[in-house]
Amino acid sequence: MDIIDIKDWGLGLSEHTLIAGPCSAESRQQIETIAQDLKGSRVEMFRAGIWKPRTRPGSFEGIGKEALAWLKSAKDIMNVPVTVEVAKTSHVEAALKAGVDVLWIGARTTVNPFSVQEICEALRGVDVPVMVKNPINPDLQLWLGALERLNKVGINKLAAIHRGFSDPYEKRYRNKPEWSMPIHLKRLVNGISVICDPSHISGTREIIASVSQRAINFGLDGLMIETHHDPDNAWSDAKQQVTPDTLNIILDNLNFRETLEEHPEAISTLDQFRQKIDLLDTQIIELFADRFQVIRQVGDYKREQNLAVYQPDRWQSVMESRLKSGVKKNMTEKFMKSLLFAIHEESVKIQESRLKVKEQVFKK
Ligand code: PEP
Ligand code: MN
Repeated sequence: MDIIDIKDWGLGLSEHTLIAGPCSAESRQQIETIAQDLKGSRVEMFRAGIWKPRTRPGSFEGIGKEALAWLKSAKDIMNVPVTVEVAKTSHVEAALKAGVDVLWIGARTTVNPFSVQEICEALRGVDVPVMVKNPINPDLQLWLGALERLNKVGINKLAAIHRGFSDPYEKRYRNKPEWSMPIHLKRLVNGISVICDPSHISGTREIIASVSQRAINFGLDGLMIETHHDPDNAWSDAKQQVTPDTLNIILDNLNFRETLEEHPEAISTLDQFRQKIDLLDTQIIELFADRFQVIRQVGDYKREQNLAVYQPDRWQSVMESRLKSGVKKNMTEKFMKSLLFAIHEESVKIQESRLKVKEQVFKK
């Protein structure tokens, strides 16, 4: 994909793009108050939703077009670009007409290729930056697909927003971060900035600072944090919004990690660690190969003796003892279990293949 770096969008954005503003625009006064409070802070772009995709009808669905003029006012107060969510042609047309600087596509839209394509058609030939939130479900292909569709109609000022993924079993977060997803996206799409939205990941303001720091630690390229002058009385996402004062504290306390280019002296130390890791990985692979060789011998023996491949008692005791040893050595139970299951699955497959069962194919 041909992508223009966020720093070259001509909007004064930095390598750590900081976006803030309320979940929803509620009134001219609310927007102007928040913009005044954020004026002079490190915030580089103002956000506000004016068309709100709500899960169930009946809750506040956004002010609509009327709020576009309020955003213009926020832009004048803060002297930064503004961004809104668009979900269909009429939104795109109204936002462009009102001079909105950057559009974003929400999680509930990214999930639907028909909707994404509709937005793309409305944007064909238009030079406007677009940020694409990850789809609700952890499907990297859908996220990538939306970026590709936009790029195909000529949008090359593209960024992604990581807002976490819905998971009914998740307790700690509103949307599970699955950090490997944004990292993988950055690897697949050369030059894309991925901005983290800790507000929709957290769902509650208490953990926004720590999620933000983790995003920076993972090398993400910026933050979009929902900010409201009176969060408790916000018309949407009240629990996860912070005041401009809190936002400033969060931003001031962030530790932006330095890059290797800024620290060339660290390269040789890191190289030494990496050589150790390379050697250990080679040894692990050799050990696995040896283990599977023994498994083949066991498979052959079972065939000769006409014994069943799967012996539940043996597997149970292997699982328990290895799990214990792994946990004792500081590995998590979750990691040990997935490792042991993968080994077991492969071992059963290998043994089964040694039994050389002749497949009978019945045509009728
Ligand atoms: C939002 O940014 O307010 C929003 C609706 O987010 P998401 O699409 O990530 O749910
Ligand atoms: Mn919100």
